[in-house]
Amino acid sequence: MACQHHNFHASVRVARLEDVGRFTAEIRITCSDCGVPMQFMGLQPGYNADGATVSLDGLEANIGIHPRGQRPNPLQELMGYTLRQHN
Ligand SMILES: [Zn+2]
Repeated sequence: MACQHHNFHASVRVARLEDVGRFTAEIRITCSDCGVPMQFMGLQPGYNADGATVSLDGLEANIGIHPRGQRPNPLQELMGYTLRQHN
């Protein structure tokens, strides 16, 4: 009988891009019952430290992250908060 995928293992690695001072979260999820990896949907392949992308095989989501306070959060963006300088 085929696995119904009821249990999962998720891993998140944080990558530090030393030369540009950026960070990304690299996320993978597998079914812990049968080991099948889950494919991420709705993301473009490539690299974007200010957004979310997916590996070419669809199995690793990459999301740009920042230490709190270095970029406006979504509420601050709604209120028109802007930065004078950024990378
Ligand atoms: Zn499964």
